[in-house]
Amino acid sequence: MKIYLNGDLVAKEDAKISVFDHGLLYGDGVFEGIRLYSGCIFKLEEHLERLEFSAKAILLDLPLDREQLRKAVCDTCRANNLENGYVRLVVTRGPGHLGLTPDGCGPGNVIIIADDIQLYPEELYEKGLKIISVPTRRINASALPPAIKSLNYLNNILAKIEAKKVGFQEALMLNDKGEIAECTGDNVFMISKGVLFTPPLDAGSLRGITRGAVIDLAAELNLPCREQALTRYDLWTAEECFLTGTAAEVIPCVEVDHRKIGDGAPGSTTRRLIELFRKSVLTDGVNLSE
Ligand code: PMP
Repeated sequence: MKIYLNGDLVAKEDAKISVFDHGLLYGDGVFEGIRLYSGCIFKLEEHLERLEFSAKAILLDLPLDREQLRKAVCDTCRANNLENGYVRLVVTRGPGHLGLTPDGCGPGNVIIIADDIQLYPEELYEKGLKIISVPTRRINASALPPAIKSLNYLNNILAKIEAKKVGFQEALMLNDKGEIAECTGDNVFMISKGVLFTPPLDAGSLRGITRGAVIDLAAELNLPCREQALTRYDLWTAEECFLTGTAAEVIPCVEVDHRKIGDGAPGSTTRRLIELFRKSVLTDGVNLSE
């Protein structure tokens, strides 16, 4: 496996950075998770824009511009002969002193890992996932905007651990008002009376690229979509529910907090959206052969 590290493609064993990097010491840095489907890097421009926005929000100067980032991602996929997989693009604050201040840190490390992925088995896309809400709340948007995809995921990791400890693979995270924010690595959608609902970004959700893709697909299906505050009750009594994320794609959710959603099987609209999503990933992006 070849890893991109600051302009070089190096063997996995040689991909090393300083222990003084604030990415390691403080989670100070930004990242993206991107998918490659049959040689097409799905929504690459949207991911690069989100990376740029995350970097801007934390006052981190990206060492590469848009074109250089695009080329680096494509080169890494090609160097690994990857046609399908997952690309992790990371930019750290860089090595510095032991204090919190980023003054004197840098240059930031740009790391790109391109590898295989299978987050959930295919069976779960047919049968649906069961999730549970957990005590750890999504971090308040005024403390740390959830739109920033930073290297600091401890909030989500704690929620994930809580779900796993009680036998669930994914956790539903609420914000400090008790509204639904998102899952630990996925956005949440529900369908009720012919309308698609998802929490607004200020409820504590990441501006998911898959979320955006699904909102666009819903428009194609003439399915009205509303971004509005949702409670657990709304979700428990919904007809359909599904999660979206780069790794999970669109996955049906058939049980929330031990309440069956609809009749307990993936809903017909969810299945239609999965079908459309799977088609769109083959064309909606940057093609490696170009
Ligand atoms: N929320 C969180 C906290 C995430 O980390 C992610 C990405 N894994 C998502 C939502 C989904 O976003 P995307 O569709 O861009 O992967």
